[in-house]
Amino acid sequence: MITVLRIGHRISRDKRITTHVALVARAFGADKILIDTKDEKIQKNILSICSRFGGSFEIQAGVTSKKVIKNWKGTIVHLTMYGETLEKSIPCIDKKKDLLIIVGAEKVPAEIYEHADYNISIGNQPHSEVAALAVFLDRYNKGNWQNKKFNGKLEILPTNKGKKVISNELNR
Ligand code: SAM
Repeated sequence: MITVLRIGHRISRDKRITTHVALVARAFGADKILIDTKDEKIQKNILSICSRFGGSFEIQAGVTSKKVIKNWKGTIVHLTMYGETLEKSIPCIDKKKDLLIIVGAEKVPAEIYEHADYNISIGNQPHSEVAALAVFLDRYNKGNWQNKKFNGKLEILPTNKGKKVISNELNR
């Protein structure tokens, strides 16, 4: 079970980027996202994607991040440009345990670095929580997210030209 914890979400500034964090989490193999600020609009948007494109992804907004971290029974990874390299860190993570992946918005409080089992960098340049999460999940599950079946009402088929979309609604 992989859960993403998005901390420092500011409704006015971060709505788009937090939505993208949630979409990347869902598409790249996470099971759930927790957001530390109550934001019903994001929750509604993501649930709407899930109802059309399938899967069992969960979203919960308005969680207390300190409580989530304190009560977490598995491994905690914090993605930060200050962290250890992916190459060194990934082999150390026990894949049998539940995983909590923390991504920030602006400055991340010092205690997050202390509570994390692994502070991991995706390169040591500042970039984006969306990119960091995508690269981490891809490496963590060795690209297997690509084989995940979502069984949605809508299914997109890969094609070089045009758009191929199947509506599975009639088959339900
Ligand atoms: N200055 C902030 C700090 O003190 O952590 C970073 C802000 S950055 C815009 C937002 C988030 O993107 C970070 O909290 C981190 O999760 C992620 N991030 C950005 N660059 C990263 C990198 N090179 N490696 C891993 N995560 C990164």
